Amino acid sequence: MLEGKTAVVTGGTRGIGRAIALELAARGVNLLLTWRGNEAAAAETAATLKQYKIRAELLRGDAADPAHSRAAAALVKEKFGKADILVNNAGITRDKLLLRMNADDFDQVVQTNLSGAFYMMQALVPMMSKQRAGRIINISSLAGVRGNPGQVNYAASKAGVIGMTLAAAKELGARNITVNAVAPGYIKTDMTEALTEEQKLNLLHAVSLKRAGAPEDVAKAVAFLASEDAAYITGQVLCIDGGMTA
Ligand code: NDP
Repeated sequence: MLEGKTAVVTGGTRGIGRAIALELAARGVNLLLTWRGNEAAAAETAATLKQYKIRAELLRGDAADPAHSRAAAALVKEKFGKADILVNNAGITRDKLLLRMNADDFDQVVQTNLSGAFYMMQALVPMMSKQRAGRIINISSLAGVRGNPGQVNYAASKAGVIGMTLAAAKELGARNITVNAVAPGYIKTDMTEALTEEQKLNLLHAVSLKRAGAPEDVAKAVAFLASEDAAYITGQVLCIDGGMTA
């Protein structure tokens, strides 16, 4: 049902973004994946995508730079002529307690996670508007729904992503563009690998299903929200957290 569509997935070469890219590729979606610094991961993902019958482009750049989003929009237009799906997934953490967090820690995280998603929406919505169709899925976090100690910057950015999603859903609905957020809980990726063993155990205790999620658990839900089956779903926040919020 998604065959022949085009998706932009930011941070699409590692972790959750990579799983989303592979899930969409398996459904026949052509891809533009962005990444910033990990060249080996970008090369590996590009090689893996060769086994699918789709076209894939990779673009290196910084999500926090609005010029990068404009370049992504220009590239997707040039290569595929359209953009049907946007997944704002690129994200970083810089965890510190509030009193130890400096302005740069705060600004970098908000610029990447929140402003980056805004820049990409602004760059791609004109194309979706013209098509009178589009799907935007913003990756928030449970930290943005419930807060998390040591993550004042990250939680603020991810709560901001939710607010932006709700407002954009109201603005863009008349153009048949749906805008939803997913809020993952504890998913096994490089990002959570950096946590201490104690932090990981504390997280696991809070998960009803008693296991960390896999990137694929998030990817399946994103693919659903991108599909025709989700045509009447907009302005929602879907927690994918194994029951952490239950
Ligand atoms: P990873 O750290 O494993 O991967 C992050 C991806 O984002 C990489 O592809 C990275 O590129 C890219 N990226 C990071 N910063 C930038 C930037 N400034 N510009 C462009 N690309 C960038 O993270 P996860 O897969 O764990 O997380 C993906 C998303 O899910 C994030 O938004 C995160 O906040 C969110 N999330 C994750 C959870 C988890 O438990 N893992 C829980 C809740 C939310 P490169 O490889 O080049 O560095």
